[in-house]
Amino acid sequence: MKHLLPQPIINGQYNRVVICAHVNPDGDAIGSSLALKHYLERKGKQATIVIPNAFPDFLKWMPGADTILVFTNDKHKEPIKAAIDGADLIIVCDLNQPNRLAALEEYITAGTAPRILIDHHLDPDKDFCQTIVSRPEMCATAEVICHLLSERNELDSISEDEAICLYTAMMCDTGAFSFNSNRPVIYEYISRLLAKGIDKDQIYRNVFYTASEGRLRLQGYLLYVNMKVLHDRHTAIMTLTNEERRRFKVKNGDTEGIVNIPLTMLGIRLSIFINEDTEHPGIMKLSLRSVGDFPCDQMASRFFGGGGHKNASGGKLQCTMSVALEKVKTAIDSYAEQLK
Ligand code: 5GP
Ligand code: MN
Repeated sequence: MKHLLPQPIINGQYNRVVICAHVNPDGDAIGSSLALKHYLERKGKQATIVIPNAFPDFLKWMPGADTILVFTNDKHKEPIKAAIDGADLIIVCDLNQPNRLAALEEYITAGTAPRILIDHHLDPDKDFCQTIVSRPEMCATAEVICHLLSERNELDSISEDEAICLYTAMMCDTGAFSFNSNRPVIYEYISRLLAKGIDKDQIYRNVFYTASEGRLRLQGYLLYVNMKVLHDRHTAIMTLTNEERRRFKVKNGDTEGIVNIPLTMLGIRLSIFINEDTEHPGIMKLSLRSVGDFPCDQMASRFFGGGGHKNASGGKLQCTMSVALEKVKTAIDSYAEQLK
């Protein structure tokens, strides 16, 4: 059977759609949500994007980004509740478990509208949404959307804004097509997005060449002062507390992607970034990245109450930074064989 667009989207028996995405939204969460919004609006529907917390500045240029409602913004709380109450369809984007909606979870799950999940993470929750479109082999949720549109012969009639959002999302989730991006069909989709007139070079600069001075200096500090390299484990660990964040005047999104930098060092196969939560001081967020076969998702679920993809995962610990660092070292030791 072909993977067509979910039935409620095809038959169009809905008018007010809420699109939601995961906490600490990344380029795929924002880009996929915006692409869906532009697509639905082109079809004459109303679409509102709601997210649990702020998204990084380097995504703010995206078409429609200024319309996104953010739950941690007090002014947006009521409009978000009203949008969910009034929705006749909810699309859940780029997440596999309802708890990835953080504070939005209770409102989304209390909504009466049917829910559709569109995602590419492993093991989607089976009870959360009535319709599940889960394609873990795909590089981004945006690729799932390209696939659905292509199956319906609609990919070549999308707008330039839809193409910009889909391209940006795939670019972000693959480190500008440097990992998890070997399937040839990705480039077929990209070729068709480029035919819409998008400027992929400009998109790259918008996302990757717009760091603040604080972010660049923080990066230098993290690498020079805070990074620990466990050579015998082929692993690097970096830490960042809120106190240090204040010192460099950086915000949440300013640390996006920093966890990848140690992987550019010859021989490093695992990078772990322990990042104190800005909204919940005392909670340490962990980001794990690997190259090759090392299963970050397994380590994240066994040790840090999280999960994700094989090469990119996350989790949390409630403790001090020094205790978190010890727990991370214990986790690494228990994978000594695989990290030899
Ligand atoms: P990041 O390091 O960018 O915060 O997260 C990388 C990936 O790990 C995310 O795309 C998501 O798939 C996963 N992830 C991050 N934090 C959590 C978490 O707390 N729980 C689960 N299940 N997955 C997470
Ligand atoms: Mn994604």
